[in-house]
Amino acid sequence: MTTSGRSLANVAKRQLLNLRRFVRGIPLTRASLGSMTLDEDDVDLARFWMEHQSNWYRSHEVEEYHRDFAKWNGSAYAFSFMGGRVALSAIIDAMGIEPGDEVILPGYTCVVVPNALRYVDVKPVYSDIELETYGLDCSLLEDKITSRTRAILVQHLYGLVCRDYEKIVEIARKRNLMVIEDCAHCTGAMFRGKRVGNLGDAAFYSSEQSKVFNTIQGGIVTTNDHNLAERLGAFHSQAEYPDLDWIKKQLFSVILNYYRFKHPKRWLLEDWAKWRYGEYRLVSTTAEEERGRRPVHYGRKMPAPVASLAINQLRKIDDYNSRRRVTAQQWDKWCLEEGYSRPLVIHDSTPVFLRYPVLVDPSSKRDRQGISEHLNVEVGVWYSSNIHPANDLVHGCPKADQAVLRCINLPCLLA
Ligand SMILES: *Cc1c(COP(=O)(O)O)cnc(C)c1O
Repeated sequence: MTTSGRSLANVAKRQLLNLRRFVRGIPLTRASLGSMTLDEDDVDLARFWMEHQSNWYRSHEVEEYHRDFAKWNGSAYAFSFMGGRVALSAIIDAMGIEPGDEVILPGYTCVVVPNALRYVDVKPVYSDIELETYGLDCSLLEDKITSRTRAILVQHLYGLVCRDYEKIVEIARKRNLMVIEDCAHCTGAMFRGKRVGNLGDAAFYSSEQSKVFNTIQGGIVTTNDHNLAERLGAFHSQAEYPDLDWIKKQLFSVILNYYRFKHPKRWLLEDWAKWRYGEYRLVSTTAEEERGRRPVHYGRKMPAPVASLAINQLRKIDDYNSRRRVTAQQWDKWCLEEGYSRPLVIHDSTPVFLRYPVLVDPSSKRDRQGISEHLNVEVGVWYSSNIHPANDLVHGCPKADQAVLRCINLPCLLA
C-alpha cells in the first residue's frame, strides 16, 4: 500500500474507533497535556505572520516582548531565546561560570538542563529532592558544595513554588554562590507577593509547547542585576535568529497543535491538520540532544513572529493560570478520595499548576490507562527517569528515584 493509502486506512480506523466510543457514550476527546493555551487568536496570528515574511527579522516585537515580560514579571530586565535551555546557556555565560566549575541541581530534571552546563564543560552535581514539592532538599546542599561550586539551580516543578526556596537562597548567599531559577514550569507563580524568579540572581522561563504558555519553542531570561543584564544583553546580541524554514515550521506548528490538542472537535480535525501541516512539525528535543549532543541550531534567539505570539500568550496567561488552580481543587478532592497525598503549596505562595503531581503505586504509573480512562485526561509521566528522558545514572538521590517510579501528573486545563 502507498503511504497515502496507509494513512487513509489509519484515518478510517481511528474514526471507526471514535464511532464505537460515541455509541458507548465515551467522550471523544481527552484533556491534553500540552498546547491547551492556544486559541483561535493565536492561529490567526500565525496565519498573519505567514503573510508577512519581510518583517520576520525586525526587532520591534522582540523588544516589546522583553519590556512586556519584564514588567509583568516584576523584573528589571528580560531577554528572549528559542528555548528555556538556551536562556540557561545565556545565564551560565553571563555569570562567567567556566569549564571545570560545578553547578548544583536536582537529580530529577529534564536532560536539556544539565546539557546546557555540559556544552561548556561545566559539571552538573546532582542533589536529592523532597517529595512535597519535588524541589531541592536544602538540608543536603552543604555536603555538595566544593571549592569549584559556582551556583545552585533552584527548580520549581509542576508549577509549585519549591518548599525550600528561601532557605536555598540563604545558603547560596552565605556561601557566596549564584542562584539560578528554573521557572520553566512555573511562569506566573507568586511568592510573598512577587513573581517567582525574582529571589535568585537570574531565572529562565519556557514557552515550549508543553509549558504554562506556548510559542511551540521559546524561552526568556530575567534578572534584576544590572551587571548580569549587560552580559545577557551581549549574549543576546551575538545570538543568531532561526532561518526562514524554521520560523515557518514554528508558525505551522501553532496551527497544527491547535487542531490536534485544543480544538473541541479535534477528534475529527486532527487528521486533517496532520495532513495539511504535519510535515512542518518541530521536535522539541531530538534523540541526539537526549544523548547529550549540542544541536547545530542551538543558541538561537526569538524572531519577531515568535515574540509576537509570546506577547499574545502573555496577555492570557493569568487567566489560564487561575483556571489551572480551579482544576487543581478538583484533583485535591480526587486525592482525598483515593488516599493520595496532595502536593504542598508553601505558605504565602500561589502556584500555577502546570500539571498536578500525584505519587501513586509504581504499578499504577507503569499502567496508567485505567486512571486516564477514569478521569478522561491524558496522564503525564514527568519524569520517567532522573534526567528525563535520558537514562543517565544519578547516584544518591533516593527521593528522586521514588518520584521517577511513582509520580504521575494530571493536566489542569481541561477545555
Ligand atoms: C522544558 C524545561 C526546560 C527547558 O525549556 P525549553 O524551553 O524546552 O528549552 C528546563 N527545565 C525544565 C524543568 C523543563 O521542564
